[in-house]
Amino acid sequence: MPRKAVALISGGLDSLLAARVIQDQGIHVEGINFFTGFCVEGHTHAIRKQDKAKPKRNNALWVAEQLGIKLHIVDIVEEYKDVVLNPKHGYGANLNPCLDCKIFMVQKAHEWIQKKAFDFIITGEVIGQRPMSQRKQTMPVIAQESGAEDRLLRPLCAKNLPPTLPEREGWVDRDQLLDFSGRSRKPQIALARQYGFDDFAQPAGGCCFLTDENYSVKLQDLWDNRGEKRYELDDIMLLKVGRHIRPEPAYKIIIAREEGETRFLSGYRNLFQSIKTVSHAGPLALIDGPELNTAQIELAAAIIARFSKGKDADAVEVSYRKAAGEPVAFQVQPKKPHEIPQDWYLL
Ligand code: SF4
Repeated sequence: MPRKAVALISGGLDSLLAARVIQDQGIHVEGINFFTGFCVEGHTHAIRKQDKAKPKRNNALWVAEQLGIKLHIVDIVEEYKDVVLNPKHGYGANLNPCLDCKIFMVQKAHEWIQKKAFDFIITGEVIGQRPMSQRKQTMPVIAQESGAEDRLLRPLCAKNLPPTLPEREGWVDRDQLLDFSGRSRKPQIALARQYGFDDFAQPAGGCCFLTDENYSVKLQDLWDNRGEKRYELDDIMLLKVGRHIRPEPAYKIIIAREEGETRFLSGYRNLFQSIKTVSHAGPLALIDGPELNTAQIELAAAIIARFSKGKDADAVEVSYRKAAGEPVAFQVQPKKPHEIPQDWYLL
């Protein structure tokens, strides 16, 4: 019976290579991909027309297909909230709790291998690759705090770390593991070429939206204006879409920036108040907040009309609809750009 390992598969290149290096040693590898709700994977690419040249695929599944391994996609949305809301090790440059996140995911993988009688865990971590979670000092912290201890093997930088159980037991040959370190992606790209992998995903900032400054500003705004630090899955999905404008602390307007986003936001029309231009082509907008009064509806509608084809018209007909209500049509004069204060725009 070959030894069995589970690889944390984000959909990026590093985890693809790490899994492949171990597969090459005759180990049975399966993948595990955690869905947190903040994942970049496919989401905005799938929605936005401007990104239509990008492949609309789930990169974790693509990696599994390239490797010929079984992939387990595990929904951790609820449990993950505590990681985002109360990270023991704090946040990175934005609201990314990378170290706590890594510990949590390895901990979940460790629970998984115990249940499924697998022998060890593989990650694509490389020392020095990421400023918060992938440092020499954090490698043992992740191994210890997750409970995985030396059943956690990082094949891409294993030679720079003490031997783990799979190496000491001879399940894997340490000599065939790698010694990558630092921020350069060149060694990974060279190894990918060697294996014949192309068309792999290379996310710029990290594997999730929490590393994105604009996204983090919107998430912080949500907490500040709710007066409490909490979120639901719908909240964090909607932060990925549209232009967000907050005229008052009580409510914000989410305006679709293109047809793809309008269609996506349409799926939320029975949960939120919404406004759409009628006389001129324009975006759909959702109102996130309590039911608006007449003045607030008129202000929101005038702002939304500014982003329609009628932005220079004297009057634009709009339709306002309460969640699960009948639409009501009326006319507004579109706001001029200078009439919308810059600080209403969330980045
Ligand atoms: S970028 Fe996001 S998913 Fe990746 S380790 Fe950091 S918090 Fe976790």
